[in-house]
This record gives sequence, structure tokens and C-alpha cells, in this order.
Amino acid sequence: MKDLKRPEVLAPAGTLEKLKVAIRYGADAVYIGGNAYGLRSRAGNFSYEEMAEGVRFAKEYDAKVYVAANMVTHDGDEQGAGEFFRKLRDIGISAVIVSDPALIEIAITEAPGLPVHLSTQQSATNFETLEFWKNYGLERVVLAREVSMEEVAEIRKNTDIEIEAFIHGAMCISYSGRCTLSNHMSLRDANRGGCSQSCRWKYDLFDLPFGEERRLVQGEVQEDFSMSAVDMSMIQHIPELIQNGIDSLKIEGRMKSIHYVSTVANVYKAAVDSYMEDPENWVCKQEWVDELWKVAQRELATGFYYGTPSEKEQLFGARRKIPQYKFVGEVVEYDEETETALVRQRNVMTLGDEIEFYGPGFHHFSTVIESMKDEGGNAIDRAPNPMELISMKVPERVNPGEMIRKKAEGLINLYKEDKVLVKRV
Ligand code: SF4
Repeated sequence: MKDLKRPEVLAPAGTLEKLKVAIRYGADAVYIGGNAYGLRSRAGNFSYEEMAEGVRFAKEYDAKVYVAANMVTHDGDEQGAGEFFRKLRDIGISAVIVSDPALIEIAITEAPGLPVHLSTQQSATNFETLEFWKNYGLERVVLAREVSMEEVAEIRKNTDIEIEAFIHGAMCISYSGRCTLSNHMSLRDANRGGCSQSCRWKYDLFDLPFGEERRLVQGEVQEDFSMSAVDMSMIQHIPELIQNGIDSLKIEGRMKSIHYVSTVANVYKAAVDSYMEDPENWVCKQEWVDELWKVAQRELATGFYYGTPSEKEQLFGARRKIPQYKFVGEVVEYDEETETALVRQRNVMTLGDEIEFYGPGFHHFSTVIESMKDEGGNAIDRAPNPMELISMKVPERVNPGEMIRKKAEGLINLYKEDKVLVKRV
């Protein structure tokens, strides 16, 4: 087997808290939004102070912080970009992810020493394009989501620039986000950070045969029409991603919760480590797949890696339901003598709830809440106050920083199971 390079696991971080959680749960690098030029105007963008703290924290774990500055700039938008990039460089940001050639040029010429990565918004799909950007001075290209695994292999054979590729998360129904649906439907510019995900709204779909009255189109299952795609998960294909020389495995979702970020980073870190330790005998463990399903919002498939997604990977059709897991708290400390955990409440907990502790490196432990006390030491049967410190009996050692989730009563609607590629048992 050829020499294998361990790829980094790259996680999204919409806030400083998510950045810290992602890194503690195994991300080798995170990408964040700065206070300007990013595509996620509502994803909790970072101030310079927060970026500096994020970089300090990341360094303790030998991790990297990238800043996405991937908006499409109109004349005037680029004002001040040079200063912005210099500031990022001086803070210690490891690279900036840029799409617009105007911003790329400014980053390279006005902030020398700041590595530049090409954003997926540039839709790089062939090695000549990657070579072009390498010659222009870029260090890495984020491939378009539309690239197949065969094309990844071909690209890797023909260029040595770093490759980053999406491996998990939501798929945009449009070609790498080139879409103005949101602009029309909600006057929010998707390419300047304002996408309102109008593709995922519910629509009535009409047929308009020539000379006839319009007719409501409905399939076997009478449902509203939506253009959403199923999410991507490449957990079962870690070997091919690594064998084809992808340098960075990217998880989508700067708007996602810390429950999501911690869970997904933890899973991919475990899967990559496991492959690098023993590539010959690697198997995709069911516990990894089960973990991903605990934070899934839609069915999971493999995007464009093994062929163009058909209508089966779109979200119309019969729904099915899976249990919903809620993030309810985090461990602050644990006293082994009294077997008591001090927990910060993040969502309502009630006596009798079945909860699961999960920590970096796949430390999982489930138990039932049998007793709880509030900060004053009073016994309580319900913990409704956000951020309140609660103590509870936990019969096994749990560690500070570990998260707690519970199976919620509700079920999440997903879509039909028959065509999904990532199976849940
Ligand atoms: S509206 Fe949908 S397809 Fe368009 S950019 Fe937003 S997520 Fe993508």
C-alpha cells in the first residue's frame, strides 16, 4: 500500500464555544467566519478578540483556525479587505478561505504570509484549475461538492496542491451555492451571506399544460413540494478519501449546534485514527454510524462522490421518523468518592430521564437520573433553568467537558429509508 498521509478533520465553528468544543472533540482544524466578507452572515461571526482567543486555544491542541471570507464582492465591498487580512495574519489565523478573485488578489498582495485557500464557491472540478490556483500562490483548494471520487483520484494524480473536500453535512440544491432563490424569495443575497434556505421551504407544485388550466402536481404521497437534498455522509468511505490523497476532510455546518459539532467531529476523528492505525483491517463501526444518526436532521447519502444524485436523494416522498436527541448539559466536575457529577444545565432535565454522557475519544456512558440537587443543595425533580449548576448521582466516572444528551420524546421526520446509502440499524 502506498504511503498514506493522515488528513485533517476540519470542523465548522460558528462561535467561540463551538470552536473549543470542536477541537476538544477531535477536530484538527476549524473554520470560522470573520466579521466581514463571509458567506454566513447569521452564523455568529467572530470579532478579532474572539479570533485571537480561538487561535490561542487551538494552539494548545496543535490545531488550526481558518477564516472563511468567501462572499461574492460587488464594487466597493472589497474596501478595507487588505487591512482585514493583515489583521487575521497577525492574529495567527492559519489560512483564509476566499472565493472572489478580487479578494484573493488583495489577500496575496496586501497580507503576504497569510495562506490562501480557494473556497468551494469557486467550483474547482479539475486539476488544471487547481494547478492554476497553485501557480497563483494558493496553498489549498476546496473542491466543488459536485466532484466524483474518480475525479478526486485524477486530480490528486496530477497536482500536489492541498485538497480539501466536504465529507459530511447539508448539500445545497444549487451548484455549489450559485443560487439566487433566496434573493428572490426573501430579498436576502445567498452569495453575500444571507441565504434563507428558500429551497427547503414547502411549495405547491403546479403543471401548466398548454391551453389547459393549471393542475396541482402531487405524487403518491400527498405532500408539499420542497427542493431540499438529503445530507452527505462519507463515514463508510474513509479509506477512499485517504487513499485518494485528500488533505482535509471538511464537515459542513457553521450554523449547527455544539451537540452536532462535537458528535460529528468525534466520529470522524475516531474513523480516521482507526484507519491510519490499521488500514488493512479498517471497518466502518456501527457505533460511528449510530452516533451520526443522533444528530441527523435528514437522510444521509454520499452526495456526488459515486454518481450524480438522482431524485431518490432529494427530499420529496414518504417520511419516516427517528428518535430525537437533545443536548441537555455538560459536566463541570466529578467527585469519585460521592459519585456525584456537577453539571451545567443546557436544556430541561427531569428525574427518570435516560441520559447519555459522551466525551472526546468515544467515552460513552448511559444512565437514568435518579436524583438531582440545585445550587443551594435542595433536591429537585426538574432542572428547567439554563446554565444552572445541578449535581446528580452518576455511578461511573465522567469527565469535565463531557456532554450530556437525552432521547427526547419527539421524533424527527426524515425521508424514506429505501434509497439511503448510510444505513441505520
Ligand atoms: S436557497 Fe438553497 S439552493 Fe439556494 S443557496 Fe440557499 S441553500 Fe443553496
